[in-house]
Amino acid sequence: MGLQIVRQIREYSRPTRGPIGLVPTMGALHDGHAQLIRKASAECPTCIVSIFVNPTQFGPQEDFAKYPRMEEADLRLCESAGASIVFCPTPEEMYPRKTTHIHVEGVSELWEGAHRPGHFEGVATVVAKLFNILAPDLAFFGKKDLQQCSVLNRMVEDLDFRVDLRFIETIREPDGLAMSSRNAYLSPQDRAVAPLLYSTLQETVAQLRSKGEHSDPVDKILDQNKAKLIRAGFVVDYFALVRSEDLSPLSTWEKESHLIVAARLGQTRLIDNCST
Ligand code: AMP
Repeated sequence: MGLQIVRQIREYSRPTRGPIGLVPTMGALHDGHAQLIRKASAECPTCIVSIFVNPTQFGPQEDFAKYPRMEEADLRLCESAGASIVFCPTPEEMYPRKTTHIHVEGVSELWEGAHRPGHFEGVATVVAKLFNILAPDLAFFGKKDLQQCSVLNRMVEDLDFRVDLRFIETIREPDGLAMSSRNAYLSPQDRAVAPLLYSTLQETVAQLRSKGEHSDPVDKILDQNKAKLIRAGFVVDYFALVRSEDLSPLSTWEKESHLIVAARLGQTRLIDNCST
């Protein structure tokens, strides 16, 4: 890759062209990605989309090999959403040897970090490499991966990356299911059940709000709603109320908090969240 691409990118990044926006993705692009690209290209004259199924953020039992890959369709979506450059490195180019990696303290160890050991090291490391290769001024991420946003925010602050992060609202299917490349794995039966994840988040928020701030412990409401998901066939990894700032768990409801959920339906693991 290396020098040739890096030189071309640096050429592109001459100050007169204005800010460079970066949208990191793993491909199998959908309208959630398109929204990130539209936002980036609206704010940045140069909008780079990276497409890289990053092996280091998948656990040994996870879906790296079968992760959907559809390069032609992805390139068309990038172009129509306004991307100026699509950067598609190979794993060998990104990782010619066992890599140095970044561990983000604290927030990366909770929730997804606990259920997917090594995941956020993989994410933080690949994003740091993309920042160094592509030198963006702004980088765009989706709030659907709320913890990823917190982890990357902390990485940028702790390591003084010279990039501003923008976090974009989750784009959903008409029935509320958050768009995700992994939705393609859902069987028709599971696809019919999947919207319950978001509707349960919304109902839980309504129940918490009706109790008021700092009132009763929230465990009972969380347990009842988690039980509803389990009855519908979800295997729930976590269903929790957390402080938005650092994703630490809350036992009473307060403003500036989020409900977060990760659950499996058949072979498909879904995550979602909702601000309260
Ligand atoms: P991925 O290709 O799944 O790694 O996602 C690339 C970027 O798109 C990440 O910043 C995700 O948070 C974001 N993203 C994924 N799904 C959505 C969605 N439904 N709405 C908004 N952003 C999303």
